[in-house]
Amino acid sequence: MNAIADYRTYPLISPLLRVTLAPDLIEVTWADQRRSPFHHLWLRDNCPCPQCVYSVTREQVFEIADVPETLQAMSVEVDRDGALHVQWDDGHESRFDPGWLRAHAYDEASRAEQQARRVNKRHWVAGLELPVFEYDAVMEDPKALLDWLLAVRDIGLTQVRGVPTAPGSLSALAERISFIRQSNFGVLFNVQSRADADSNAYTAFNLPLHTDLPTRELQPGLQFLHCLVNDAEGGDSRFVDGFAIAQTLRQEDPDAYRLLCEIPVEFRNKDRRSDYRCLAPVIALDALGEVAEIRMANFLRGPLNLPPQWVLPYYRAYRRFIEMTREARFQFHQRLEAGQLWCFDNRRTLHARDAFDPASGARHFQGCYVDRDELLSRIWVLQR
Ligand SMILES: [Zn+2]
Repeated sequence: MNAIADYRTYPLISPLLRVTLAPDLIEVTWADQRRSPFHHLWLRDNCPCPQCVYSVTREQVFEIADVPETLQAMSVEVDRDGALHVQWDDGHESRFDPGWLRAHAYDEASRAEQQARRVNKRHWVAGLELPVFEYDAVMEDPKALLDWLLAVRDIGLTQVRGVPTAPGSLSALAERISFIRQSNFGVLFNVQSRADADSNAYTAFNLPLHTDLPTRELQPGLQFLHCLVNDAEGGDSRFVDGFAIAQTLRQEDPDAYRLLCEIPVEFRNKDRRSDYRCLAPVIALDALGEVAEIRMANFLRGPLNLPPQWVLPYYRAYRRFIEMTREARFQFHQRLEAGQLWCFDNRRTLHARDAFDPASGARHFQGCYVDRDELLSRIWVLQR
Protein backbone atom coordinates (compact mmCIF):
# COMPACT_ATOMS: atom_id res chain seq x y z
CA MET A 1 0.00 0.00 0.00
CA ASN A 2 1.35 3.46 -0.93
CA ALA A 3 2.69 5.48 1.99
CA ILE A 4 3.13 8.67 -0.06
CA ALA A 5 1.27 10.36 -2.92
CA ASP A 6 3.52 13.14 -4.21
CA TYR A 7 6.08 13.93 -6.92
CA ARG A 8 8.47 15.03 -4.21
CA THR A 9 10.53 12.80 -1.93
CA TYR A 10 10.78 13.44 1.79
CA PRO A 11 14.04 12.63 3.56
CA LEU A 12 13.76 10.67 6.79
CA ILE A 13 14.70 13.37 9.31
CA SER A 14 14.04 11.15 12.30
CA PRO A 15 12.45 7.68 12.48
CA LEU A 16 9.18 7.05 14.29
CA LEU A 17 9.92 5.69 17.75
CA ARG A 18 6.49 5.14 19.31
CA VAL A 19 2.90 5.98 18.77
CA THR A 20 0.06 6.23 21.27
CA LEU A 21 -3.65 6.33 20.65
CA ALA A 22 -5.92 8.94 22.30
CA PRO A 23 -9.65 9.62 21.73
CA ASP A 24 -9.26 12.39 19.08
CA LEU A 25 -5.69 11.94 18.01
CA ILE A 26 -2.57 9.86 17.73
CA GLU A 27 0.59 11.09 19.38
CA VAL A 28 3.81 10.18 17.67
CA THR A 29 7.21 10.30 19.36
CA TRP A 30 10.15 10.63 16.98
CA ALA A 31 13.62 9.22 17.61
CA ASP A 32 14.86 12.78 18.30
CA GLN A 33 12.21 12.96 21.08
CA ARG A 34 9.97 15.45 19.30
CA ARG A 35 6.30 14.67 19.91
CA SER A 36 3.69 15.43 17.25
CA PRO A 37 -0.06 15.09 17.54
CA PHE A 38 -1.99 13.98 14.47
CA HIS A 39 -5.77 14.11 14.72
CA HIS A 40 -7.69 11.10 13.46
CA LEU A 41 -9.58 13.27 10.98
CA TRP A 42 -6.32 14.86 9.76
CA LEU A 43 -4.72 11.46 9.14
CA ARG A 44 -7.80 10.05 7.44
CA ASP A 45 -7.96 13.22 5.28
CA ASN A 46 -4.36 12.64 4.17
CA CYS A 47 -4.53 8.88 3.49
CA PRO A 48 -2.31 8.35 0.39
CA CYS A 49 -3.77 4.94 -0.60
CA PRO A 50 -4.88 4.38 -4.21
CA GLN A 51 -8.56 4.36 -3.12
CA CYS A 52 -8.19 7.85 -1.63
CA VAL A 53 -5.74 9.39 -4.14
CA TYR A 54 -5.93 8.65 -7.88
CA SER A 55 -2.48 7.36 -8.73
CA VAL A 56 -2.35 8.99 -12.20
CA THR A 57 -3.08 12.57 -11.13
CA ARG A 58 -1.99 12.20 -7.48
CA GLU A 59 -5.07 14.19 -6.57
CA GLN A 60 -7.51 13.22 -3.86
CA VAL A 61 -10.77 11.47 -4.77
CA PHE A 62 -11.73 10.98 -1.12
CA GLU A 63 -13.42 13.87 0.70
CA ILE A 64 -13.26 14.16 4.48
CA ALA A 65 -17.05 14.54 4.57
CA ASP A 66 -17.25 10.93 3.26
CA VAL A 67 -16.57 9.59 6.80
CA PRO A 68 -18.32 10.38 10.10
CA GLU A 69 -16.77 13.17 12.17
CA THR A 70 -16.47 10.61 14.99
CA LEU A 71 -14.23 8.28 12.93
CA GLN A 72 -11.70 6.56 15.19
CA ALA A 73 -8.46 4.71 14.71
CA MET A 74 -8.85 1.17 16.10
CA SER A 75 -5.13 0.45 16.20
CA VAL A 76 -1.89 2.15 15.25
CA GLU A 77 1.64 0.84 14.88
CA VAL A 78 4.99 1.55 13.31
CA ASP A 79 5.33 -1.18 10.67
CA ARG A 80 8.42 -3.08 9.51
CA ASP A 81 9.30 -0.36 6.96
CA GLY A 82 9.09 2.36 9.63
CA ALA A 83 5.79 3.70 8.25
CA LEU A 84 2.84 4.64 10.45
CA HIS A 85 0.07 2.09 9.95
CA VAL A 86 -3.49 2.96 10.99
CA GLN A 87 -6.51 0.64 11.12
CA TRP A 88 -9.77 2.66 11.06
CA ASP A 89 -13.04 1.65 12.73
CA ASP A 90 -14.82 1.57 9.34
CA GLY A 91 -12.39 -1.04 8.00
CA HIS A 92 -10.16 1.34 5.95
CA GLU A 93 -6.39 1.18 6.43
CA SER A 94 -3.77 3.88 5.90
CA ARG A 95 0.02 3.99 5.78
CA PHE A 96 2.09 7.16 6.14
CA ASP A 97 5.71 7.63 5.11
CA PRO A 98 7.65 8.95 8.15
CA GLY A 99 9.52 11.55 6.05
CA TRP A 100 6.25 12.89 4.65
CA LEU A 101 4.64 12.84 8.09
CA ARG A 102 7.49 14.78 9.67
CA ALA A 103 7.46 17.37 6.86
CA HIS A 104 3.76 17.99 7.51
CA ALA A 105 3.75 17.73 11.32
CA TYR A 106 1.92 20.57 13.04
CA ASP A 107 3.25 20.48 16.61
CA GLU A 108 4.64 23.78 17.85
CA ALA A 109 8.32 23.07 17.10
CA SER A 110 7.61 21.76 13.60
CA ARG A 111 5.44 24.76 12.77
CA ALA A 112 8.16 27.11 14.02
CA GLU A 113 10.67 25.35 11.71
CA GLN A 114 8.31 25.61 8.75
CA GLN A 115 7.78 29.29 9.53
CA ALA A 116 11.54 29.90 9.62
CA ARG A 117 11.92 28.25 6.19
CA ARG A 118 9.35 30.57 4.64
CA VAL A 119 10.81 32.71 1.91
CA ASN A 120 12.65 35.69 3.29
CA LYS A 121 12.37 38.62 0.94
CA ARG A 122 15.60 40.58 1.17
CA HIS A 123 14.73 44.28 1.13
CA TRP A 124 17.16 46.62 -0.62
CA VAL A 125 17.89 50.31 -0.94
CA ALA A 126 20.18 52.51 -3.06
CA GLY A 127 23.36 50.47 -2.53
CA LEU A 128 21.91 47.23 -3.91
CA GLU A 129 24.54 44.80 -5.16
CA LEU A 130 22.74 43.95 -8.37
CA PRO A 131 22.40 40.20 -9.01
CA VAL A 132 23.68 39.64 -12.58
CA PHE A 133 23.31 36.42 -14.60
CA GLU A 134 24.64 35.23 -17.96
CA TYR A 135 22.18 34.40 -20.74
CA ASP A 136 24.03 31.27 -21.93
CA ALA A 137 24.20 29.84 -18.42
CA VAL A 138 20.51 30.32 -17.56
CA MET A 139 19.51 28.90 -20.95
CA GLU A 140 21.61 25.74 -20.58
CA ASP A 141 22.27 25.02 -16.92
CA PRO A 142 19.32 24.23 -14.59
CA LYS A 143 21.40 25.23 -11.55
CA ALA A 144 22.12 28.70 -13.03
CA LEU A 145 18.45 28.99 -13.95
CA LEU A 146 17.41 28.19 -10.37
CA ASP A 147 19.91 30.71 -8.92
CA TRP A 148 18.50 33.41 -11.18
CA LEU A 149 14.88 32.60 -10.34
CA LEU A 150 15.59 32.59 -6.61
CA ALA A 151 17.12 36.07 -6.94
CA VAL A 152 14.04 37.26 -8.84
CA ARG A 153 11.82 35.82 -6.09
CA ASP A 154 13.79 37.05 -3.07
CA ILE A 155 15.41 40.31 -4.24
CA GLY A 156 12.92 41.24 -6.95
CA LEU A 157 15.45 42.85 -9.34
CA THR A 158 17.99 41.08 -11.55
CA GLN A 159 19.95 41.69 -14.72
CA VAL A 160 20.76 39.17 -17.46
CA ARG A 161 23.68 39.89 -19.82
CA GLY A 162 24.78 38.43 -23.13
CA VAL A 163 21.24 38.29 -24.52
CA PRO A 164 20.97 38.22 -28.35
CA THR A 165 19.78 41.57 -29.70
CA ALA A 166 17.58 40.31 -32.54
CA PRO A 167 13.97 41.41 -31.99
CA GLY A 168 11.96 38.60 -30.37
CA SER A 169 14.96 37.02 -28.60
CA LEU A 170 13.33 37.73 -25.25
CA SER A 171 10.65 35.03 -25.75
CA ALA A 172 13.05 32.11 -25.43
CA LEU A 173 14.41 33.40 -22.12
CA ALA A 174 10.96 34.15 -20.64
CA GLU A 175 9.80 30.69 -21.74
CA ARG A 176 12.65 29.15 -19.69
CA ILE A 177 10.28 30.02 -16.82
CA SER A 178 6.91 29.35 -18.42
CA PHE A 179 4.04 30.93 -20.33
CA ILE A 180 4.31 34.58 -21.27
CA ARG A 181 1.31 36.59 -20.12
CA GLN A 182 -0.23 38.41 -23.03
CA SER A 183 -1.94 41.79 -22.63
CA ASN A 184 -3.53 44.44 -24.83
CA PHE A 185 0.04 45.65 -25.48
CA GLY A 186 0.93 42.32 -27.12
CA VAL A 187 2.87 39.14 -26.20
CA LEU A 188 6.10 41.12 -26.47
CA PHE A 189 5.66 44.86 -26.32
CA ASN A 190 7.98 47.34 -28.04
CA VAL A 191 9.13 50.27 -25.92
CA GLN A 192 9.91 52.93 -28.52
CA SER A 193 8.96 56.55 -28.84
CA ARG A 194 5.95 56.73 -31.18
CA ALA A 195 3.80 59.61 -32.40
CA ASP A 196 0.59 57.52 -31.91
CA ALA A 197 1.53 56.36 -28.38
CA ASP A 198 -1.25 54.54 -26.45
CA SER A 199 0.81 54.76 -23.25
CA ASN A 200 3.26 57.29 -21.81
CA ALA A 201 5.76 54.37 -21.97
CA TYR A 202 5.83 54.84 -25.75
CA THR A 203 7.01 58.44 -25.60
CA ALA A 204 10.39 59.98 -24.75
CA PHE A 205 9.04 61.44 -21.46
CA ASN A 206 10.47 60.76 -18.08
CA LEU A 207 8.35 57.92 -16.67
CA PRO A 208 8.00 58.10 -12.86
CA LEU A 209 8.43 55.05 -10.62
CA HIS A 210 5.52 52.69 -11.19
CA THR A 211 4.27 49.12 -11.49
CA ASP A 212 2.86 47.91 -14.82
CA LEU A 213 -0.83 47.14 -15.35
CA PRO A 214 -2.12 48.28 -11.92
CA THR A 215 -5.35 48.51 -13.91
CA ARG A 216 -5.76 44.70 -13.73
CA GLU A 217 -7.18 42.67 -10.88
CA LEU A 218 -3.91 40.70 -10.98
CA GLN A 219 -0.86 42.78 -11.86
CA PRO A 220 1.73 40.82 -13.87
CA GLY A 221 4.21 39.17 -11.52
CA LEU A 222 7.44 39.43 -13.49
CA GLN A 223 8.42 42.02 -15.99
CA PHE A 224 11.23 41.69 -18.52
CA LEU A 225 12.75 44.70 -20.29
CA HIS A 226 15.26 43.76 -22.97
CA CYS A 227 17.51 46.35 -24.57
CA LEU A 228 18.07 45.83 -28.32
CA VAL A 229 19.52 49.27 -29.05
CA ASN A 230 20.30 52.17 -26.75
CA ASP A 231 22.13 54.92 -28.60
CA ALA A 232 19.94 57.79 -27.39
CA GLU A 233 21.06 60.24 -24.73
CA GLY A 234 19.29 59.77 -21.41
CA GLY A 235 16.71 57.07 -20.71
CA ASP A 236 18.50 55.47 -17.75
CA SER A 237 16.55 52.89 -15.69
CA ARG A 238 15.64 53.51 -12.06
CA PHE A 239 14.21 51.08 -9.52
CA VAL A 240 13.02 51.12 -5.93
CA ASP A 241 12.06 48.20 -3.70
CA GLY A 242 8.40 48.92 -2.95
CA PHE A 243 8.51 46.51 0.00
CA ALA A 244 11.43 48.42 1.55
CA ILE A 245 9.53 51.69 1.13
CA ALA A 246 6.35 50.22 2.64
CA GLN A 247 8.37 48.86 5.58
CA THR A 248 10.05 52.25 6.15
CA LEU A 249 6.72 54.08 5.84
CA ARG A 250 5.24 51.73 8.42
CA GLN A 251 7.96 52.80 10.87
CA GLU A 252 8.17 56.49 9.99
CA ASP A 253 4.51 57.27 9.38
CA PRO A 254 2.20 54.46 10.52
CA ASP A 255 -0.97 56.47 9.83
CA ALA A 256 0.01 56.99 6.19
CA TYR A 257 0.93 53.30 5.90
CA ARG A 258 -2.46 52.25 7.24
CA LEU A 259 -4.36 54.50 4.82
CA LEU A 260 -2.42 53.13 1.85
CA CYS A 261 -3.21 49.57 3.00
CA GLU A 262 -6.89 50.19 3.65
CA ILE A 263 -8.20 52.77 1.20
CA PRO A 264 -8.58 51.62 -2.42
CA VAL A 265 -8.03 53.93 -5.37
CA GLU A 266 -8.90 53.33 -9.00
CA PHE A 267 -6.31 52.79 -11.74
CA ARG A 268 -7.47 53.13 -15.33
CA ASN A 269 -6.03 52.49 -18.78
CA LYS A 270 -8.04 53.23 -21.84
CA ASP A 271 -7.55 53.51 -25.58
CA ARG A 272 -9.94 53.43 -28.51
CA ARG A 273 -10.71 49.71 -28.04
CA SER A 274 -10.23 48.93 -24.35
CA ASP A 275 -11.05 50.34 -20.93
CA TYR A 276 -9.38 48.57 -17.99
CA ARG A 277 -10.11 49.62 -14.40
CA CYS A 278 -9.15 48.27 -11.02
CA LEU A 279 -10.07 49.58 -7.58
CA ALA A 280 -7.43 48.47 -5.06
CA PRO A 281 -5.13 49.81 -2.33
CA VAL A 282 -1.55 50.91 -3.08
CA ILE A 283 -0.21 48.45 -0.48
CA ALA A 284 -1.78 44.97 -0.30
CA LEU A 285 -1.12 42.66 2.64
CA ASP A 286 -1.19 38.86 2.59
CA ALA A 287 -3.15 36.68 5.01
CA LEU A 288 -0.30 36.94 7.54
CA GLY A 289 -0.26 40.77 7.47
CA GLU A 290 2.98 41.00 5.46
CA VAL A 291 3.29 43.36 2.47
CA ALA A 292 2.49 41.24 -0.58
CA GLU A 293 2.09 43.78 -3.35
CA ILE A 294 2.57 47.41 -4.35
CA ARG A 295 0.22 48.93 -6.91
CA MET A 296 1.28 52.31 -8.19
CA ALA A 297 1.30 54.18 -11.49
CA ASN A 298 0.29 57.75 -10.88
CA PHE A 299 -0.28 58.40 -14.59
CA LEU A 300 -2.98 55.68 -14.61
CA ARG A 301 -4.83 56.74 -11.46
CA GLY A 302 -8.41 57.96 -11.68
CA PRO A 303 -9.88 60.78 -9.55
CA LEU A 304 -10.14 59.96 -5.85
CA ASN A 305 -13.63 59.12 -4.74
CA LEU A 306 -13.62 59.00 -0.94
CA PRO A 307 -15.77 60.24 1.91
CA PRO A 308 -14.83 63.97 2.14
CA GLN A 309 -13.13 63.64 5.53
CA TRP A 310 -10.66 61.11 4.05
CA VAL A 311 -9.58 63.11 1.00
CA LEU A 312 -6.89 65.25 2.68
CA PRO A 313 -5.51 62.48 4.93
CA TYR A 314 -5.35 60.20 1.90
CA TYR A 315 -3.54 62.78 -0.23
CA ARG A 316 -1.05 63.23 2.60
CA ALA A 317 -0.32 59.48 2.66
CA TYR A 318 -0.27 59.10 -1.13
CA ARG A 319 2.04 62.09 -1.61
CA ARG A 320 4.33 60.72 1.10
CA PHE A 321 4.65 57.38 -0.74
CA ILE A 322 5.52 59.09 -4.03
CA GLU A 323 7.99 61.40 -2.28
CA MET A 324 9.70 58.34 -0.82
CA THR A 325 10.05 56.73 -4.28
CA ARG A 326 11.87 59.92 -5.31
CA GLU A 327 14.35 59.82 -2.42
CA ALA A 328 17.91 58.92 -3.38
CA ARG A 329 18.24 56.59 -0.37
CA PHE A 330 15.86 54.10 -2.03
CA GLN A 331 16.80 54.40 -5.71
CA PHE A 332 18.95 51.99 -7.69
CA HIS A 333 19.96 53.60 -10.97
CA GLN A 334 21.70 52.17 -14.06
CA ARG A 335 21.68 52.55 -17.81
CA LEU A 336 20.76 49.38 -19.72
CA GLU A 337 22.98 48.58 -22.70
CA ALA A 338 22.21 46.52 -25.81
CA GLY A 339 22.18 42.78 -25.00
CA GLN A 340 21.17 43.31 -21.37
CA LEU A 341 17.80 42.90 -19.76
CA TRP A 342 16.04 43.63 -16.51
CA CYS A 343 13.87 40.97 -14.94
CA PHE A 344 12.02 42.15 -11.85
CA ASP A 345 9.03 41.48 -9.62
CA ASN A 346 6.46 43.92 -11.00
CA ARG A 347 4.26 43.54 -7.91
CA ARG A 348 7.11 44.70 -5.67
CA THR A 349 9.80 46.62 -7.58
CA LEU A 350 8.78 49.96 -9.09
CA HIS A 351 10.59 50.97 -12.25
CA ALA A 352 11.18 54.28 -14.00
CA ARG A 353 12.90 55.68 -17.03
CA ASP A 354 14.57 59.05 -17.34
CA ALA A 355 13.57 61.22 -20.29
CA PHE A 356 15.66 60.63 -23.40
CA ASP A 357 16.39 62.55 -26.57
CA PRO A 358 15.05 60.56 -29.54
CA ALA A 359 16.97 62.85 -31.94
CA SER A 360 20.32 61.74 -30.42
CA GLY A 361 20.10 58.07 -31.45
CA ALA A 362 17.91 54.96 -31.68
CA ARG A 363 16.42 53.37 -28.56
CA HIS A 364 14.48 50.12 -28.72
CA PHE A 365 13.49 47.90 -25.79
CA GLN A 366 11.16 44.89 -25.84
CA GLY A 367 9.29 43.68 -22.81
CA CYS A 368 6.96 40.94 -21.63
CA TYR A 369 5.28 39.58 -18.50
CA VAL A 370 5.23 36.23 -16.72
CA ASP A 371 3.00 35.64 -13.69
CA ARG A 372 4.46 35.05 -10.22
CA ASP A 373 2.73 31.65 -10.00
CA GLU A 374 4.77 30.48 -13.00
CA LEU A 375 8.01 31.60 -11.35
CA LEU A 376 7.19 29.84 -8.07
CA SER A 377 6.07 26.65 -9.82
CA ARG A 378 9.29 26.56 -11.85
CA ILE A 379 11.33 26.99 -8.66
CA TRP A 380 9.45 24.15 -6.91
CA VAL A 381 9.99 21.81 -9.85
CA LEU A 382 13.70 22.69 -10.20
CA GLN A 383 14.12 22.01 -6.47
CA ARG A 384 12.44 18.55 -6.57
ZN1 LIG B 1 -7.13 5.50 1.85
